Amino acid sequence: MAAAQGMISTAVAVRMPFGSTKSNLKRFYVGQRFKNGMGRMSISSTVKSMSNNNNAETLQESQDSRGPSYIWSDKQRPRVCILGGGFGGLYTALRLESLVWTDNKKPQVVLIDKSENFVFKPLMYELLSGEVEPWEIAPAFKDLLANTGVLFVKDSVKIIQPNGPGEVLPGGNVQLESGLNIEYDWLVLALGSEAKLDVAPGALEYALPFSTLDDAQRTDQALKKLERARFGKSSLPIEVAIVGCGYSGVELAATIAERLQDRGTVTAINVDANICPTGLPGNREAALKVISERNVQLLLGFYVNCVRKPADADESDNQAKFILDLQPAQRGIDSKSIEADLILWTVGAKSLLPQLESFDYGKRLPLTSRGQAEIDETLQVKGHPRIFALGDSAALRDNGGRLLPATAQVAFQQADFAGWNIWAAINGRPLLPFRFQNLGEMMTLGMNDAAVTPGFIEGLTLEGPIAHTARKLVYLARLPTDEHRLKVGISWLAKSTIDSIALLQGSISKVLSSS
Ligand SMILES: Cc1cc2nc3c(=O)[nH]c(=O)nc-3n(C[C@H](O)[C@H](O)[C@H](O)COP(=O)(O)OP(=O)(O)OC[C@H]3O[C@@H](n4cnc5c(N)ncnc54)[C@H](O)[C@@H]3O)c2cc1C
Repeated sequence: MAAAQGMISTAVAVRMPFGSTKSNLKRFYVGQRFKNGMGRMSISSTVKSMSNNNNAETLQESQDSRGPSYIWSDKQRPRVCILGGGFGGLYTALRLESLVWTDNKKPQVVLIDKSENFVFKPLMYELLSGEVEPWEIAPAFKDLLANTGVLFVKDSVKIIQPNGPGEVLPGGNVQLESGLNIEYDWLVLALGSEAKLDVAPGALEYALPFSTLDDAQRTDQALKKLERARFGKSSLPIEVAIVGCGYSGVELAATIAERLQDRGTVTAINVDANICPTGLPGNREAALKVISERNVQLLLGFYVNCVRKPADADESDNQAKFILDLQPAQRGIDSKSIEADLILWTVGAKSLLPQLESFDYGKRLPLTSRGQAEIDETLQVKGHPRIFALGDSAALRDNGGRLLPATAQVAFQQADFAGWNIWAAINGRPLLPFRFQNLGEMMTLGMNDAAVTPGFIEGLTLEGPIAHTARKLVYLARLPTDEHRLKVGISWLAKSTIDSIALLQGSISKVLSSS
């Protein structure tokens, strides 16, 4: 209960315009005003209501046998609950806001995320190179949603409980970690995925994943610590091992090798005989060219069998290197062990849906072996017409029967359809089938380098600074909300102007000193 209150005050504070945090806290009684989706009546009905002065979206809480329940401010308008505020969830909320609704149909929308910030993951590498600031790629939900009717609740989703066919209401209930219950008419599942480190012994203990903002910040801290300890004092190079050479592993290898320069080496390990095996050939070639010019050693055709500390190292010894035992993927090649100061793990991802508990086995969602919800082409979960799923939480096949990749590009495009299809469902209109448009693939290769292969011009791959600028511009356009885009655009413009002036000054002083 205390946790629920803490969460509520945070959520109310975020609805305050102009940074005010004053809230009106009232207590009143509503008797049997609430009936939940399971047909149970509220019993002890002390209701806490918090609201701010100009806001229709208030977060109120009632207590019943199930625990505290969120009171939607309007009894008539549809209630949409969005779980996860990443590319799928946040952009669905913004899409719902942008559509035209008749007044009594406009849904009340609650967005729940365990983090305070949306994270634009494709730009996380730039946190390691110092090219972007955390606020640019991870803006707070409270700022992004400040001028919308969407209520943000910072909490972790614990249980989803869809109502069955025989029950009074067709929606269901979501229970949060704090104990708060939220009933919904329409649910959007967009909880994303996380790194899968439990595949090799020791990886969970000694390797760092790179899939959340926290991971990126921990990696940056670990690098800074090594840089402080080694630079200037010792000639011992910093050794970084990167497990996996998909896009993520290669982008990390290029970025970190550029950061360390000749003060460190990066070893990138891949079970496949190639880097970016599922990527576009143009990008792969551009990446190979770049990393061959940096201190990157590729160990292809190996998988990591185990990660450990040396036998004679004390567990508390933070200085000792880690050891990665590698097995060849093919016969006839010797296994080997390598040492590293820092191990980054980019292999494997697991959907976060299976972590949700379900009250009733019969109402569980259909999940694939990867833990993604099986959806049809309208993005509705099979057998659950009131639940939409998208992004990394959802499994959808293209016309050729291949699963759509777990990418921001897919989630971003699906959000458009999820928003539209919720509108259509509420308005009794036909739902649209989602068709993925592959717009191409982009990868960063460092501070002034990238590879961009557009999907609409065959055989073209942009490389170097042009690709770097093109990628940043595409991502700038994809950032959420006009206001945030503008702020980031100004910030990037200012930085590139300063960089250009510094470059010009450097060139002028070189010319002057040589003359
Ligand atoms: C380093 C990196 C680089 C990438 N680069 C690219 C790229 O260049 N191009 C590309 O297309 N894709 C890229 N991707 C993949 C892309 O970011 C994901 O596919 C995309 O973010 C999926 O969107 P989503 O909405 O499904 O999940 P996410 O964007 O991950 O959002 C999920 C949200 O759910 C929240 N959440 C999770 N569990 C809970 C819970 N129990 N309760 C409450 N909230 C919860 C999380 O906090 C998060 O905000 C990259 C991924 C990473 C990690």
